[in-house]
Amino acid sequence: MILSGWGNFPRLDACLLRPRNLGDLRLALSRGPLIARGNGRAYGDSAINPAQTIDMRSFNRMCAFDSTSGQLIAEAGVLLADIISVFLPRGWFPAVTPGTKFVTLGGMIAADVHGKNHHCDGSIRNFVDWIEILDGNGNTRKCSREEDPSLFEFTIGGMGLTGVILRAAIRLRPVESGYIAQDLRPAATLSDAIRLFDENPTASYSVAWIDCLARGQKMGRSLVMFGEHATRADLPAERRDKPFSIPARRAKSFPFDAPSFVLNPWSLALFNEAYYRNGRRRAGRSLLDWDAYFYPLDSIHDWNRLYGRKGFAQFQCVLPLASSDLGMRVLLDTISKSGQDSFLAVLKRFGAEGGGLSFPMEGYSLALDFPIHRNTIDLLKRLDSIVLDFGGRFYLAKDARMSADVFSRSEQRRAAFLDTRTKEGWRSHFTSAQSERLGI
Ligand SMILES: Cc1cc2nc3c(=O)[nH]c(=O)nc-3n(C[C@H](O)[C@H](O)[C@H](O)COP(=O)(O)OP(=O)(O)OC[C@H]3O[C@@H](n4cnc5c(N)ncnc54)[C@H](O)[C@@H]3O)c2cc1C
Repeated sequence: MILSGWGNFPRLDACLLRPRNLGDLRLALSRGPLIARGNGRAYGDSAINPAQTIDMRSFNRMCAFDSTSGQLIAEAGVLLADIISVFLPRGWFPAVTPGTKFVTLGGMIAADVHGKNHHCDGSIRNFVDWIEILDGNGNTRKCSREEDPSLFEFTIGGMGLTGVILRAAIRLRPVESGYIAQDLRPAATLSDAIRLFDENPTASYSVAWIDCLARGQKMGRSLVMFGEHATRADLPAERRDKPFSIPARRAKSFPFDAPSFVLNPWSLALFNEAYYRNGRRRAGRSLLDWDAYFYPLDSIHDWNRLYGRKGFAQFQCVLPLASSDLGMRVLLDTISKSGQDSFLAVLKRFGAEGGGLSFPMEGYSLALDFPIHRNTIDLLKRLDSIVLDFGGRFYLAKDARMSADVFSRSEQRRAAFLDTRTKEGWRSHFTSAQSERLGI
């Protein structure tokens, strides 16, 4: 079948297998190299091996929960959406969540996902106690910080290239309600936005939407959103009896690939102007339910089809703290001069770097979506060079087209990863279209 990631670019001819048990998995392993796939929310080709892509969604049982520590043991194919629907009513929420709940536990660990709280809490790595993996010899191995630490380190953020994650133990966080107290602040420029992040280092959650079509003095104008889990006392009286129930949202879906004229510079400029003005009007404090705050895009299923048949590429980089302000301005300036506009542009503040091949490092991360046009790849190559010049790196879960050269220049830990992959024999059993392209 034709397989792609969330960006629908690239689309590759691949054989997709859906094993139901360990025996099926071992059989696939005996046939040759493979890659595990979760819910296909990585944007590019990291969850595709043309010969054998292993759909892990049948491994979807929740096995145990300790209501004292918040530790959940679950199989890799369990969806984050299901974890929330089972545990939020009991007062527990994921300690780290990406911007969509339609991801699997295995996919979150393999990408070492970060949320809007990275500056405080780090990535999901900090909340994983142990992982059980199927290795290249068909054996199951349990790894943690104490047991087989190298396998543990490289599996988190290792993009499926160390083995197939079967089960894991993660810790959830206790919460008093299903609501977030949001403080929305408009920022007239990118430097203002960065200043707001810097002035609010203890906000539990922070993120900014950037209008990357704004030119001249308005360049980088943003809406910065801070958030805290609301306590029961923060809720209006009528909600305090049922602090975890939220108004039902009817999910809409985008039923077809949009024609290319739908997302054009004019429609994007209109949207951004309206979004920014509306944000300015709503500035200040408000109460949002967890679904609206963490997963606004999930309310439209298949929104990726808005970008049309050719799909889109997401570009997500992180720049070190010292060079973030200037580097981000150079990136935005290059984009605005290219005439190619990004519909979604998100800025986040990251805290300390994790281990293995994990993406985050202390600094600012910018994520941008670009519909694939004739000149898109050229623009992305120019953005790659800027990121390299400023000492940054790229998120593999969003990558669909980076070159092996750019990857090796951005990633000093590549050699250690490759070395371990070769020594442990992972390289002959676990490969993806992305790992082949990047030469790892
Ligand atoms: C709208 C949207 C918003 C997002 N926001 C964020 C964000 O804020 N922060 C963030 O960090 N990411 C974000 N992401 C990216 C997403 O969280 C990651 O790509 C995540 O890995 C997707 O999980 P998945 O289950 O769909 O995995 P897939 O896309 O299927 O696979 C992703 C990687 O995980 C590996 N993998 C999957 N399952 C297993 C397994 N059982 N064993 C071993 N390897 C496995 C695959 O080989 C592949 O390398 C976002 C994605 C979308 C679409």
